Amino acid sequence: MDDKETRTCKNLRFSRFAHAFEHPTHPFLYHSIFQTKVFLDRTEWESLRRFYRTKRYIQLDELTQRLYKLGFIVGKNEDERTKDLLKRELEKPIELRSLFLILTERCNYSCSYCYQYPKRDLDMSPAILEKSIRTFIKTTRSFKGLKNIFFHGGEPLLRHDLMRAACRQVDYLIESGETSNVGLAVSTNGSLINNEIAREAHAHKVFFAVSLDGFLKKHNCHRSKGHNIYKEVTNGIKVLQRNNVDFSIMTTVHNQNVRDLAKIAEHFITKLGANSLGFTILLGNDKIAPDLDLFADSLLNAFEVIRRYGVREARLSVQLQAFLEERLNLYDCKEYRGEIVVSPDGQVGPYLYFIGSRLFFEKSNLKNMDVNKMERFVNFATNTPLNEDNCLDCQCVGICGGGNHYNRYYKMGVLNKHDPDFCVYSKKALRWMVTDLRKKVFGE
Ligand code: SF4
Ligand code: SF4
Repeated sequence: MDDKETRTCKNLRFSRFAHAFEHPTHPFLYHSIFQTKVFLDRTEWESLRRFYRTKRYIQLDELTQRLYKLGFIVGKNEDERTKDLLKRELEKPIELRSLFLILTERCNYSCSYCYQYPKRDLDMSPAILEKSIRTFIKTTRSFKGLKNIFFHGGEPLLRHDLMRAACRQVDYLIESGETSNVGLAVSTNGSLINNEIAREAHAHKVFFAVSLDGFLKKHNCHRSKGHNIYKEVTNGIKVLQRNNVDFSIMTTVHNQNVRDLAKIAEHFITKLGANSLGFTILLGNDKIAPDLDLFADSLLNAFEVIRRYGVREARLSVQLQAFLEERLNLYDCKEYRGEIVVSPDGQVGPYLYFIGSRLFFEKSNLKNMDVNKMERFVNFATNTPLNEDNCLDCQCVGICGGGNHYNRYYKMGVLNKHDPDFCVYSKKALRWMVTDLRKKVFGE
């Protein structure tokens, strides 16, 4: 704190980003942007409470000086400066790092909640596939992190031949020194996995994300009618295991399975050998969407199980890691910044879930993938709660991500407004993280 500030302490106040979590013995202050945390004792909190509530006029003492240094207490305009800093951060060039190839829009299933609507009888041509990969590899040459190529559909394994061609092309580009550090993954309903596919996947280190909504008929009730989904998919998973293919089970959470996520997680881990799980909230379908309050409770219970088994999880663990490592988690899905989706007919778009409607997609000659020159991509990348003034005052702004872009658009017809239903989940998740940390620190 400089001399001027100490002389004019009436200018000091609690930052709009400082949030208090009251507790009988271990009250807690949390900075929603810097992600810093301070546990206080009861007396300290009593001395601060009035100032915190009114947000104004801080009495200077050792504690408040410490909180000033940590950014919980600020001088005039300091919050504005933090806001400007965040803005500049968001305006930094986007680095392309993920390519989603929609190998086909056809599918052998007909799930009632499929986001890919209308379905077209359309497969990607080998020429578009080859060109997309070549351009992606060229564009990402200077990117040092992991570059990902995802095979999607429809059901991508209906065009396993295209997946094989893509894997061979990537291998060739790696061997010839054109690129390195490329991850390959396929998102599949699991019904078409056979030994040949699994052997090739193992050889090319393709990661499998297999969809399965639970272990009971009612859990899978919204998936393809007339198929014994559970049996088909678990057979596919066994084939992957026999061939040492790394896989994850992805569950779409809807009104029928939302209460059972802990049981589902335990079953997938102990009976199906999953060491990675993902729970995705059903998107764009109000009739069978889960209640998000229930979803939050159920996912938090499931997470306790998942953590006990040391298994990876794709939603809460990302937020928790950011919270613990004092990093911002700006997006509900990290692919909002740096993803490019290529449709079978060679159109490009910033987000997979709009593939059916082709909203935000545009024609492309696939010679250039400079997403910084494409307005739609920049819009997606900068659409985070940090850009919404209402969200800036929310305790969750640094970890929440603002919900799914597809759901936002589906519900509100715009991208740049957060999904209020999603806030219920975010707030519970943050409270859980604070309690979890308190338990770790104080062993309560
Ligand atoms: S398996 Fe996937 S792509 Fe196929 S119908 Fe179901 S949700 Fe849609
Ligand atoms: S989306 Fe909701 S929970 Fe997230 S920061 Fe905005 S108001 Fe908070």
